[in-house]
Amino acid sequence: MIFYDFLWLPEHIVNDLRFCFQKTSLVGSECCGLILGSYQKYIAHAQQLLPVHNVHQQKNSFMLPLHTYRQAKYISKKCNWDIIGIYHSHPNGKPYPSPMDVRGIENSDYPWLILAPACNKQAGLELVAFQPGTMKPITIHTKSALDTPFKN
Ligand SMILES: [Zn+2]
Repeated sequence: MIFYDFLWLPEHIVNDLRFCFQKTSLVGSECCGLILGSYQKYIAHAQQLLPVHNVHQQKNSFMLPLHTYRQAKYISKKCNWDIIGIYHSHPNGKPYPSPMDVRGIENSDYPWLILAPACNKQAGLELVAFQPGTMKPITIHTKSALDTPFKN
């Protein structure tokens, strides 16, 4: 099981998430995939998304194809990364886990990231993340947030 308290999502990852979210939201389905990257102690750094086809039959659910983890491990090994999370979207929903998500997170080996539309449409996406097992919230940093203290 992988634990961390902070997840750094650089700008290109946020852009990729936004793209996946928008593309699937148009047809009212959830996007899903894995987040690859590195982690150490409390902090994880997302390096690449592995967006996959949502194979669940129902619209308000998601399921990763079986080969996804094998594919992710293959890519990760080459780059010395790990699978650091699972993401999916709630195109018309709220940025918190559904009862089914809670069961999934409790039984997962990886943190979960949930994408939902922001209340303020201009802001685009709302992102929340949870540790597996305990459901402890993970603090998400995006590049702009991390950059702010260094801007002068
Ligand atoms: Zn969900």
